[in-house]
Order: sequence, then structure tokens, then C-alpha cells
Amino acid sequence: MAAGMVACKPVNPDNSNQGTLPSAQKDADITYQINVYSFADSDGDGWGDLKGITEHLDYLDALGATSLWLSPIQDCSSYHGYDVLDYSAVNPKLGTEADLKELIEKARDKNIDIYLDYVLNHSGRGDWFQSAISSADSPYRSYYVLSANPTADVSAGRIDNYAGATNPGMGTWHLASGGSLGYKGRLHFKLDWNKKTITVTQSTDAPQSSNPSASLWLWIGSAGAVGLYQTASGIHEITVDVDTDWGFLIRSSLTSWDGGTKWGGDGSSVKFGTPFNINNDTAADIIFGGNSTWYFASFDQSMPDLNYGPYAKASESEAFKALAASADKWINMGVNGLRLDAVMWIYQEQATANASFLAQWYDRCNATYKARGGTGNIYMVGEAFAETGRIASYYKGLPSLFNFSYWWTVKDRIGRAKGNDFARTVLWFRDQYKSYRSDFIDAIKLSNHDEDRTGNDLGKNLAKMKLAGALLLTSPGKPFIYQGEELGYWGEKSKGDEFVRAPMKWTRTGRIPTKALGGKIDTGMLGSEISVEAQLEDQNSILCMYKAFTRARNTCPALAHGEMKEVSSSTDALALWTMTYEGQTVLVAHNFGNAPVQASLSSYKLDKKIVSNGDITAGKDGTLKLGPFSSAVFEQ
Ligand code: MG
Repeated sequence: MAAGMVACKPVNPDNSNQGTLPSAQKDADITYQINVYSFADSDGDGWGDLKGITEHLDYLDALGATSLWLSPIQDCSSYHGYDVLDYSAVNPKLGTEADLKELIEKARDKNIDIYLDYVLNHSGRGDWFQSAISSADSPYRSYYVLSANPTADVSAGRIDNYAGATNPGMGTWHLASGGSLGYKGRLHFKLDWNKKTITVTQSTDAPQSSNPSASLWLWIGSAGAVGLYQTASGIHEITVDVDTDWGFLIRSSLTSWDGGTKWGGDGSSVKFGTPFNINNDTAADIIFGGNSTWYFASFDQSMPDLNYGPYAKASESEAFKALAASADKWINMGVNGLRLDAVMWIYQEQATANASFLAQWYDRCNATYKARGGTGNIYMVGEAFAETGRIASYYKGLPSLFNFSYWWTVKDRIGRAKGNDFARTVLWFRDQYKSYRSDFIDAIKLSNHDEDRTGNDLGKNLAKMKLAGALLLTSPGKPFIYQGEELGYWGEKSKGDEFVRAPMKWTRTGRIPTKALGGKIDTGMLGSEISVEAQLEDQNSILCMYKAFTRARNTCPALAHGEMKEVSSSTDALALWTMTYEGQTVLVAHNFGNAPVQASLSSYKLDKKIVSNGDITAGKDGTLKLGPFSSAVFEQ
């Protein structure tokens, strides 16, 4: 052993359940991804909650986690939280601010950081949005991507969100109010039968039901006749919620359209607050054409995109300032990182614009973090859901990005029993990232809450799932473990997102937090033996394998921080590489196939096995035999 070399602490190679490593000894950077709503329920209301996480910190600590990424915790309409209504408030279904503070503090005691999911691309349709679309004078008008005529505005380059693109790549425009002919919203109608005018105004008063003894009616949308109330001589009024795609008419008879009983306009649009002349001659539909407002949404129409103005000055926009002020609150509370949702769509798939925006956002949050006295820099990882070649340049804006290509490579290579180009491929990813940021943090992962489960993609084959986990925890970068991967979950997104977001099964027979998922639960998967309780008792479980490998990574600096170097392998299924850090080197070997493999490795030491999974035989002559889907790490 060279002077100054850091030895790995021994990990029982039989994957025994060895209890918890002292928190201070966790040397690696391992994040656990939590769906707060389906992780652990502390109060029995069926919803996973923040206190539930606090109650399970020992589990997360024993699993070697040094940070937790929480699904969005802010007030929202959906179960999943990606449609935020108030960026500064905790979703009451998940707990309180005090619960979050407690989690942050108790996690800190175990050297575990808390990262929040932060949704910058869009919000929910809460107060900001309702105000924005209700009036051109709203202080929130600039927060959203609004247009009276999207086609014209896009082609004239007036939509900052497109950043010069003419096609959004994803998403569409939705009618917020009005329309080419129609209108959706609450309106007050005042018909002056003496002057034959009607005045329409937007209203926030309580809506009225149709007057059953009316003498004059609105004929509107699919609602049909709405009876007006006489409020003075010749004056007939009503306030109603309107949803019409063609406009409206006035009728003086409900039994006939003939003999001048149908009253309408001259084909022009009604203007709110201005008396509009009606006639029973032309009697054209009275339309709302001049008042339509459209909004853009990259994803579902329930999630309108936020507008940050021209990207070079995004930090000066009102929406940016508001979201940053909320982020300050959480960072000052002790949050040490953010996971940024959908960063490719902040400016519609425009990499330069998005990287510029993200750099401004990062600098803003990091300044808050440093002012708070945070150690080093704030951690921030972007979800740019595409292959490495397309997203590497986002490293110009952020220190870390999820590596989706990493997981797609793992499943492809396991599927093809092809391991001997794995290290080369991982190094190629890293080279792409390095060209944009020398200190990039490669956030490697298997599946997540938006993809088919690892177990699903690997045919529910436990040996393959263990191999995938062992690969993740022996590769360079910052591994993310998704809730349930360590238990061997499976699930298919096409059946519904809920099926890839299944609750944690803590005990064989205890209750699980199912309420958020609305019954979309694979009860066949969540049997008693997939539980944490059962797997902790089984030395051969995937959970014990995850614990052994996270422990190895946390105690072996070369695994945690090492530089990867490919070791040539002439056997297709066999992946070999070394990891070297501060004079320490480990040899990593994985068999991607279901047949045993053998290699002659006389120039490496095989006598100090740090951790392994499956059947491993290391001969004194340097012969290494790996059984199907087996893995081993040896100190050099
Ligand atoms: Mg609960």
C-alpha cells in the first residue's frame, strides 16, 4: 500500500445486512428519489407525508443516502405536485412547514441533504393564472405566455418563450377566455329593451340561475335559453357562467324563431362594457372575437407555461423574481439542492436560451445559499429528458444533469448481454459533458417516476435488476436511486403514471400510502415478500445487495470519487474497468450475460474483494469467474 493511500473499509462480501454505517463515514454522494405522496404515511390518512420521511430516515441512512430528492411539496391541484398553485406554501396533504424544517434538521444529523423538486417551466392554474387571464391590467399578466393571436405573434417573433423558434416542439395553445367567436367565463348581461342595446361585462359576482318566468331570454352556447330578470322598466339583466363557442343571441319567444323574435347583431364583436346595438333583421350571432386570450402549455392544459421574457434578461422578469423569492425561502430553511423539472421546455427546446436561463437561475439561488452560509455551492440538477448528445450543452447552465442515456445504455446492454463496451460508453458520455463544464456532476440513474420501471424493462428478472443496481453504484458520477428500485419494483407507464410511482411496502402486512394514486396500484407486485421487512431478513434480497454496494461506495474513496478507466475485455458479456482516486485503485467487473464468464487478470489483484453480487470465484493465478449477472469489486 502506497503512503497516503486510503484503504477501503471491508464490506462483508456476502451482502450481509450489516446495520448502519456511521453517518459521518458516508463518503460518496448517493441520492434517493422520493415520491412524498407514496413513500410513508405518518398519520394514517393514506397520503405519504413529510413526517413519514422523517420517521424512515434510519432506513435511508442505512441505504447510504447522502441526499433525498423530494417530489414537489408545494401546494398544488394534482396528486403528483407538478402543477404548483403556491410556490411558497407546503401542500397540506403532505404536512406543514414545521414538518419540513424537522425533516431538514433530522436529516442533517445523518449527513443527508434535502433537495426539492422545483417546477420552473409551468405552474398550475391557480390565483396567478386566473388573475393573468382575467384582465390585461393584472400584475400577473406577464407571468404567462398569452396571446390574442398566437399564429400572428409566433410568426412575428413576439413570443419570447419560443426564443426564435417557429414550432414549439411540444405543447399547444389553449383558449383562456374568449375565442374567435365564443367565450368562457362569468359575464353580466344588461339588455336595454327600450334602446335595443345589450351591455356585456366580465363579472365576479355570484352567478344566477335562469329566470323561469322571464319574457326575454339569452340563447347562448350549448346551455340554450337563459331567462333574464327585469330590474327596471325595459331593463333585463343576469349574471351567468358562459361557455360558448359561437357567441349568443336574444330571443323574445321560446316557441318560435320567426316573426322577428330572434335578436342579434350585425356580425361584429361585442366589446365588454360598451352598449351593443341589437336588431331582429340581420340578427347575426353576437360574437366575442375581439376579446380572446390564448395561453401556451408545453404539457397538459392544466399546467400553463410560465413566461420569463427574452432569455438574456430572464432574471429581470416578474415571474423569475417571484419564483426566486420562493426558492429563497426554502434555501434559507436549509434546503441544499433543487431538482429542476422539464428544463428543455422553459424556452421551447432552445438549448442556448435554456442554458442562459438556467445559469441565471443557478447564480441567483447559489447567491442565497452562500449568504445563508451553505457549504460549497448549492446542488442543482436539471431534467433534460433526452439523450446525451442533445442535452450536453445544458451543462453551460447547470452543474448537474440527469443522464438518461446512462440508463438506456444499461438496459440495452443487459438485454444484449454486451458488457465490454460499457465503460467506453460511459466515458463517452462524460467526455461530452466535460466539453461544456469541467466540473460537471453526472447524475446517473436507472428509471425514474416518468419512465417504465427498471424491473419492467428487465423482464422482472431479479438477477438483472441486481446487476443494474450494482452497475449504478460502481459507475462514476452521482447515483440516484428511485424509490422502490432497491426492492425490485416493476411497473409500466402506459397503464398510468401511478403504476411507476407505487407506494413503499414497509412491512409484510402493514398499510401502505395508496390514496394519492387513486387505486392505480399493482397489488400483485406489492405482495408481502417484496416488503422492506421481508428483504432485510433475506441476505440474497435486492435490498441487501443495494445496501452492500452503497456501503462499499461510501467507504471506498476510489468507488466514490474515482476516475474511470476501461480495462480491455475480449469477452462480450464481461465489463471491466478501474476506478482510481488519490493513489487508490479498484478493479470493477460485471457479467452482463446469463452464462458464466471467465477472464485471466494476472496483472490485477483479486485477493481483496470489497463487495460482490452473485457467484464470484477469484483464483490465485488471476483467473476470475463470474456467474450470470454477477458483479465484483477488488482493491488493487
Ligand atoms: Mg399522511
